[in-house]
Amino acid sequence: MRESKARKIERAAEVVKLLYNEYPNAKCSLHYNNAQELLVATILSAQCTDHRVNIVTKDLFRKYTSAKDYAYCDIKTLSEDIHSCGYHNQKARSIQGSSLMIVEEYHGHVPDTMEALIKLPGVGRKTANCILGEYYGFPSVVIDTHMVRIMNLLDFTKSKDPKKIELELMELFPEKDWVKLTHMVIDHGRAVCIARRPQCNTCTLSDLCPSVIN
Ligand code: SF4
Repeated sequence: MRESKARKIERAAEVVKLLYNEYPNAKCSLHYNNAQELLVATILSAQCTDHRVNIVTKDLFRKYTSAKDYAYCDIKTLSEDIHSCGYHNQKARSIQGSSLMIVEEYHGHVPDTMEALIKLPGVGRKTANCILGEYYGFPSVVIDTHMVRIMNLLDFTKSKDPKKIELELMELFPEKDWVKLTHMVIDHGRAVCIARRPQCNTCTLSDLCPSVIN
C-alpha cells in the first residue's frame, strides 16, 4: 500500500529522533574559521575526503588569508597548492573565479543568499547550502551522495536529482533539523548504511526502513 504523506512525515520524525540518539555530535568535519575558508574547503571536498581537505587547508589558509589572495594569485601555484585534493586545475579555477566575484561584487564578503552563491563560478546548490546552513545558520539541506543513497533507501524520495531531493526533504523534515540531518546521515552512511554493504542487522533505523535486508 502507498504510504501517505502524513505517515511519511511521522516516519521522518522517528528517523531524526533515532539519528540524534545515535549521532549526537554529528557536525561538519571540514576545518574553517570564516565563510571564505568554508567556501574554499567545500569546493576542495568534491570527490575528496574531508580528512585530505583538512590536511591541505592547514597550510593553504596560512598562505591565502582573504578572497583577494585567491582572486589575484597565480592560478598555477594555487593549483599546485591544492594538487592532492584531485581535480586541482578545475578546483583552482572555481576558487579563483568565485573569489574574484566576491571581491568585485561583494566587497570581499561571501554572500549569504542562494541566488548570489550559485552565481559564483564553480558553486552549486550543495556548496551554497553548506555555506548557508553551516556558516550563516540558515535552515538548509545539503544533498551529498550519502543523502541521495540513504534517503532513497528510506523511501523519502525516489529521485537521484539533488535539487528535487532537497525540496522533497524540506517537506518531510522540520526546518530545525535540516542542517543536522545531513551530518547525521553522512555519519550513518560512513558507519552503518555503507554503500553496497549496508549493515542492516545493526542499523538503528531498521524498523523504519523499507529497504532493510534481514
Ligand atoms: S536498514 Fe539497512 S538499508 Fe535501511 S538505513 Fe539501515 S543500513 Fe541502510
